[in-house]
Amino acid sequence: MSQAPLLLDGRTLSKTIRAELKTRVADLRAKGIVPRIEAVVAAQDPASLAYVAMKRKWAAGLGMESGEFAVTDQVSQAEVEDHVARLNADPRVHGVLVQHPLPKHLNEAAVLDVLGAEKDVDGITPASLGRLTAGLPGFRCATPLGITLLLERYGIDCLGRHAVVIGRSNILGKPMALMLLERHATVTIAHSRTRDLPDLVRTADLVVAAVGRPELVKGDWIKPGAVVVDAGYNKVEGRTHDVGDCDYEACAAVASAITPVPGGVGPMTVASLLKNTVDAAERSLS
Ligand code: NAP
Repeated sequence: MSQAPLLLDGRTLSKTIRAELKTRVADLRAKGIVPRIEAVVAAQDPASLAYVAMKRKWAAGLGMESGEFAVTDQVSQAEVEDHVARLNADPRVHGVLVQHPLPKHLNEAAVLDVLGAEKDVDGITPASLGRLTAGLPGFRCATPLGITLLLERYGIDCLGRHAVVIGRSNILGKPMALMLLERHATVTIAHSRTRDLPDLVRTADLVVAAVGRPELVKGDWIKPGAVVVDAGYNKVEGRTHDVGDCDYEACAAVASAITPVPGGVGPMTVASLLKNTVDAAERSLS
């Protein structure tokens, strides 16, 4: 592409979405409902604590309330599950976020099973993923939801397009593929055992990189005019900010649209989480 690609600016769009949410939160508060999100997070994981702190700060900025259970290495599986069960039963709580990863001694899948679908605003429990797979309503996983909002608001139609999703995690690659399928894309999921990944990616009209390998996707993998969404953020020594899974400059030179890192998918994930929580609070009115 000789023209500069369309920048899919998640930072700016997340501000717009937050402004919309702020109005909805004010309406809810006027009706006596304060949307509330509760986080369960590993106490000894500085990155997880920082993510949760940022999510709570954004929530507060919208007039929402939030709480946090910092899980130390001394907290038992039963205690975490009891806590989640209490949050499930508490009508003041609309959403629960189990920040991955929990401390290693805990069985995270069992905690997510206790949470179930009703307050799973991150959309990562087996119950929520099952609803997505079955095409039933439910909370959609926050990161892929953020990506679909980004595509929709920038007028990128997925219908009939070949989407290649690189990565098959339960929180990103798999739900992303299913959500693109919901939008009528023809979807291929690639992973670490995929053969000839560069050639496969060259067939894509839309590429979603969800890998966790800095700059894995090269410019010459991208079909001219394809849309490139980079969900990766990787710490790389000597680089001042997080690096995506795509070689940004090289991919931007051929793509028709691309997300930056940072400022693309990351802010949309948080906006989607809060959107799901406000949706849940509105639902509690009926
Ligand atoms: P993950 O659980 O580690 O999954 C990574 C996936 O990439 C796996 O399916 C793996 O394949 C595949 N993979 C690894 N190396 C590969 C290679 N060389 N070629 C092709 N596929 C390869 O990671 P994740 O949690 O999905 O996160 C992926 C990235 O997104 C990370 O950079 C993470 O930081 C970022 N992320 C961003 C947000 C956000 O809000 N922006 C949210 C969550 C995650 P196998 O299944 O075969 O092992």
